[in-house]
Amino acid sequence: MGAKELPFTKEQIESIIRDHPTPFHIYDEDAIRANVRRLIKAFDWAHGFKEYFAVKATPNPHILKILHEEGCGADCSSLAELVLAERTGLAGGEIVFTSNDTPAVEYVKAKQLGALINLDDISHIDFLERTAGIPESISCRYNPGPLRSGNAIIGNPQEAKYGFTREQIFEGYSVLRKKGVRSFGLHTMVASNELNNQYFIDTAVMLFELALEVFEKTGVRIESVNLGGGFGIPYGPEDEPVSIELISKGIRLAYDERIKNSPLHPLKIYMESGRLITGPCGFLVSKVLHLKDTYKKYAGLDSCMANLMRPAVYGAYHHITVLGKEHLPAGTKYDVTGSLCENNDKFAIDRMLPKLEPGDIIVIHDTGAHGHAMGFNYNGKLRSAELLLGTDGTVKLVRRAETLDDYFATLEFAER
Ligand SMILES: *Cc1c(COP(=O)(O)O)cnc(C)c1O
Repeated sequence: MGAKELPFTKEQIESIIRDHPTPFHIYDEDAIRANVRRLIKAFDWAHGFKEYFAVKATPNPHILKILHEEGCGADCSSLAELVLAERTGLAGGEIVFTSNDTPAVEYVKAKQLGALINLDDISHIDFLERTAGIPESISCRYNPGPLRSGNAIIGNPQEAKYGFTREQIFEGYSVLRKKGVRSFGLHTMVASNELNNQYFIDTAVMLFELALEVFEKTGVRIESVNLGGGFGIPYGPEDEPVSIELISKGIRLAYDERIKNSPLHPLKIYMESGRLITGPCGFLVSKVLHLKDTYKKYAGLDSCMANLMRPAVYGAYHHITVLGKEHLPAGTKYDVTGSLCENNDKFAIDRMLPKLEPGDIIVIHDTGAHGHAMGFNYNGKLRSAELLLGTDGTVKLVRRAETLDDYFATLEFAER
């Protein structure tokens, strides 16, 4: 990797800003299509391979439609995400529903859509039976607990609230079969933003071995394993991207060794990546509003953590390009801030940048997943627009910016 490139020029962005004032997120359709094609090609050896895009990463129908056209399904985790998938035209086998602490209405909706329900807990078997009824196909989410180490974002599996324990997995499948389930899946998600290729191969091995053990102990034949999401992207210029080809090669070897000559063959492999697909394809475009020189130098933008929470929540690095100043020396140290009354509202701390002026256009990289989606209204801040830079070079507004009317729409004002 190394260079953090942009799919647009300064002139293009200036012309876009004339129609769509900053701040906004802009997504690169070409890059999204290229990412998902690369993933699907890497797994072309795997019978029934499917990527169910994690809707929560970029919950926009235009993005879902592009991904659907490329052969992806949707991984939903809430009622709103199920409805979004439905309204984008996805149905049945194209939707996986991976939730936790699930309300009854969500199971009812997932079952009505024919989504593959992925249970988070053994107690949900009875809950599902009482609320939506037990469907013919079902998947269970496995939490390996002490058998795997996690990472910073998702936490240690033993401390993670998700999934069945090892013992519960065997019991769960036996109970589900007694209740009439005919088709079974096995799911896990043990890492987030992980850049180590081997981690994903280990996860596949873990699921292959567990699926074989489930068959030996209970006679239940698992038909699909879902590796979850969690594939990292190189946020920093020095980060090495994952190699989806190397991961695929390792998983293929493990498949050939363990599954190919077993009764589980052909076992389908599913994924539900968000970040890997859209993360690098989105950019938050903002302007420098104020420069402040006190105990430190501050560059205040016309956006804030309502538009991108990752730096504040995870201390995450997001690369910053100052349009038109790419080739100037990065000789001044800034905290790049938003306007929220919270001191963690900073896009970058102690970042070396070219000397800034009010009005400079700032591009914050890698906001295509878990960017706009995490936005919120604290301090009365409004969420920005989302734009799509199409394959044909046109720019389409795919979500308008919130207005004050949106913000006040749910309030009851007292009589004056
Ligand atoms: C968030 C989430 C994903 C997507 O994670 P990425 O890091 O964007 O790949 C997939 N599956 C589940 C269950 C999730 O909660």
